[in-house]
Amino acid sequence: LGSERGFSALAAPELPAFDYEPKPYKGPLADEVFGKRKKYLGPSIFHYYQKPLNIVEGKMQYLFDENGRRYLDAFAGIVTVSCGHCHPDVLSAITEQSKLLQHATTIYLHHAIADFAEGLASKMPGNLKVVYFVNSGTEANELAMLMARLYSGNLGMIALRNAYHGGSSSTIGLTALNTWKYPIPQGEIHHVLNPNPYRGVFGSDAKLYAEDVQDHIEHGTSGRVAGFIAETIQGVGGAVELAPGYLKLVYDIVRKAGGVCIADEVQTGFGRTGSHYWGFETQEVIPDIVTMAKGIGNGLPLGAVVTTPEIASVLAQKIQFNTFGGNPVCSAGGLAVLRVLDKEKRQVHCAEVGSHMIERLTNLQHKHDIIGDVRGRGLMVGVELVTDRKQKTPAKAETAVLFESLRELGILVGKGGLHGNVFRIKPPMCFTKTDADFLVDALDYAISKL
Ligand code: PLP
Repeated sequence: LGSERGFSALAAPELPAFDYEPKPYKGPLADEVFGKRKKYLGPSIFHYYQKPLNIVEGKMQYLFDENGRRYLDAFAGIVTVSCGHCHPDVLSAITEQSKLLQHATTIYLHHAIADFAEGLASKMPGNLKVVYFVNSGTEANELAMLMARLYSGNLGMIALRNAYHGGSSSTIGLTALNTWKYPIPQGEIHHVLNPNPYRGVFGSDAKLYAEDVQDHIEHGTSGRVAGFIAETIQGVGGAVELAPGYLKLVYDIVRKAGGVCIADEVQTGFGRTGSHYWGFETQEVIPDIVTMAKGIGNGLPLGAVVTTPEIASVLAQKIQFNTFGGNPVCSAGGLAVLRVLDKEKRQVHCAEVGSHMIERLTNLQHKHDIIGDVRGRGLMVGVELVTDRKQKTPAKAETAVLFESLRELGILVGKGGLHGNVFRIKPPMCFTKTDADFLVDALDYAISKL
């Protein structure tokens, strides 16, 4: 079939050279680990591949399985490993801090938390200078929602369809992908149209989507809202970048209705989009509250909320406390991440490698009809697969096959979107042009073999 379709000349691409020997692995093998996982870890935890993959070591943009087989990591532990797996500077910061003090509590002074807060605040525009540390993106969004409700005196939150903001009982309400929704009370949350240029009803017309927000406030609320939350590139939803100019219009509308504007930077932050340090800057807005996690700690369980002194003051009414938030080890690691990203100019690097990869993927789109859309910025890229370009019918089964083929070829990508038909390419930020070329060649090869 390959030669009939003219693909016989294509040879499977080889992984780029990488000068690193993984340590010999003597631990339990996949079957044993999988057995325990099935028995002891809840049934809702899904595994990604048909044949479970036992990852035992990581170095920069590469992962190694139990047999020492190397994989190009194009998903970074769900967009979390920012500097690279086991980056030496981050490793050394964590190790040195661990030897001195792993935990005391934030009721005492420790310089690591203060230094890290100062470092984060220095990356923020406007009056966003007060930092709260938590342990995850979900916790960050919980806290942001609490602040929005207390500060505004209103309850209603507005979020976008196709958004993911967390899986706790209240952030599930903000999330708007039914694959993640348990049937529990969702609180006062309104989901407005998703300004998705590829699938949205108004294409890229930010004004019409913004009118939907106004309409929702007028018809679905008392006219007053607590806040609005959005990612500028929806991550779990399939790397969907909001229509240009949307946030500017919506922030105005929400503020007029008494609400605060929250930017969820859990995936888009820290220069990953290449063009800017924060995703919200791509839409030329300054939020009132910014939430972050994932890349902030290169894999450490760490999250943060940054806001203005005025909004932060609402939490002075009571105690707001988080036992592990800003613990010395995570803070030392987080500060090292900030320094590495600057020292290695990773934002510029993401812009260069990202635009090269997007250009190559767009060329591939001209070759393969199954590629309906290529989108994203920097190293936050989505490739949406469809069986029919006009109808945009999700190529769900084909995506699943290609996903397995990519693994066979030595690449781990993410899968996402409501229909599971989007490849999410969000590697560690040290991913190179050569890696990008390999990924595109492998995708080309795998599609050709469908
Ligand atoms: N916000 C966004 C945009 C996310 O992508 C995620 C996780 O994928 C979260 C919040 C929740 O973060 P966590 O899984 O750290 O709780």
